[in-house]
Amino acid sequence: MAKKKGARNMALLVCSECGLSNVHSERNSTNTQDKLQLQKHCKVCKKHTLHKEKK
Ligand SMILES: [Zn+2]
Repeated sequence: MAKKKGARNMALLVCSECGLSNVHSERNSTNTQDKLQLQKHCKVCKKHTLHKEKK
């Protein structure tokens, strides 16, 4: 099933340590089927933590 193209897929990423959900990145839905898990810098934890995609 082909969906409409053009809409940006913004993924909300939540810090797995403090739960802050202020990080988002563009998601490539064509390549990424699974949930995103990225090492990103959290300004609350002040370090790189694992961020998971929030639905
Ligand atoms: Zn954090």
